[in-house]
Amino acid sequence: MSDLLRELWSRAECEEPVFSAEEVEWAPPGQFELLWQLCFLKEASRATWARCEACGDGHVEEVTWIRNATTGNPTPFVPCPETGASTVSLDRLRRWTIDLDAIAHALRRELGLIGNNSVLLPGRVWFLGRRHVAGRFRDFFLVVGAAREDAHTLWDRCRQIEDAPSPVILVPSQAPSGPRVLAFRLADLAALTEDRLVIDLDYLTDALPRDANAKQAKTVACFQVPAGARWSELRLVVREHTVVAHLRHLEQEFAFEDLGMTGPGDRLWQLLCTLARYGGHTPARSRSVSEEGTVTFRKKVSDLRQRLSTVFPIDGEPIRAVRGTGGYRCVFQINLDRTDGFPVQPERWNECSLTELRDGRIAISVRTKEVFAARTISEETAGRTNLEAAEQFGVRTEEYDLRTLGLADEVGRPTGEGRVLLELLRSGGKLTRRGDDKKVLRLAQWLRNWMRLEDDPFQFTSCRILWNALFDTSSRRKLGPTT
Ligand SMILES: [Zn+2]
Repeated sequence: MSDLLRELWSRAECEEPVFSAEEVEWAPPGQFELLWQLCFLKEASRATWARCEACGDGHVEEVTWIRNATTGNPTPFVPCPETGASTVSLDRLRRWTIDLDAIAHALRRELGLIGNNSVLLPGRVWFLGRRHVAGRFRDFFLVVGAAREDAHTLWDRCRQIEDAPSPVILVPSQAPSGPRVLAFRLADLAALTEDRLVIDLDYLTDALPRDANAKQAKTVACFQVPAGARWSELRLVVREHTVVAHLRHLEQEFAFEDLGMTGPGDRLWQLLCTLARYGGHTPARSRSVSEEGTVTFRKKVSDLRQRLSTVFPIDGEPIRAVRGTGGYRCVFQINLDRTDGFPVQPERWNECSLTELRDGRIAISVRTKEVFAARTISEETAGRTNLEAAEQFGVRTEEYDLRTLGLADEVGRPTGEGRVLLELLRSGGKLTRRGDDKKVLRLAQWLRNWMRLEDDPFQFTSCRILWNALFDTSSRRKLGPTT
């Protein structure tokens, strides 16, 4: 009797993981049906070898196909020393191969893995997804044939395994040799019940080395990332005490503790706020890093990167270094929850200036009269200090991503108004467009809203069909040939 279920995991390691008709026939009742129902088996090509049924000797021979003289159909035969040749029934030649893709799919489902999944090497290596287990997020892989002769090449061909911070390798029954990777045998972990594959997660949890920061990681919440999601699709809106994540149709709000942060003073929270304020960039080095060592800053970015990858299990890096600047750029979108416009209200348009920065963001500045408490020493009162209100001119500057301003779509393509604004900034504040140009009029409305100024930001000269900005404009973008 051949136990198909017990045999499943060792057979899965074979280059041709098939069961013969004979094996299926002699298997305990229900086993084949169970595997068939789970879609773990699919019909394979017919066998080319078969057992002779004519003489009782049980010898196995290569099948030859001979055209039947009366029906004209090709019929399978095996040579037999006793009878010359004996026919084989077509059913006896049927074979079923183990569907490893279906098993990979079932593992992902049963382990509750999330995030991306993919076939890394067809028939050999699958990336199954990611989940939090034993104190941290781990990437799960299914590797078949890890003890075959070419197994040592698998790791080089699948860099994703080596690149994973905490990979967990599942193998059907043969673990790879060497201490290089942590592997678990499905033969030990898995069981088949009436309608599903069951994985002993407790066993896995106990066997995995626990992370030193397990306690911290445990408190972190997790966003159910749909398969195939990319960082660029994620938008974080930073509110006063929470972050709202948007991805495709999903939305979830995270409090400090969900993010493993202590409160408004948490260094990672502050970095997140800085990134939100600057539209997904760290500010220029001189302003952010001068008081804080570069190494410390890099560590902080690295910690935030790790934290975000834990809360949002998406492939790849969420924050990238901008080469040669010491700065960083978010791959996801991030902004403050503030759509009410510029924080300071100017009195006239000539107090404002808009600049296109080299990286495509827009800097908006307003010259302001700031009223602040000034300390003065009164001579008469000999050393006693008085607080007096003083007035001084200052400049308030904010830098925005076009998306934050609502002038670009989710992937950063400028809207009609956004394009007009860029054109304006690059052409020294002049636009040759008709007086009823809808895009210019919409941009004007947008500018009035954002700056909370009632006056028109443009002057139109009808004889020259020319729009003139009443605020300062400039562009630091180095433009190559027109694109
Ligand atoms: Zn025979």
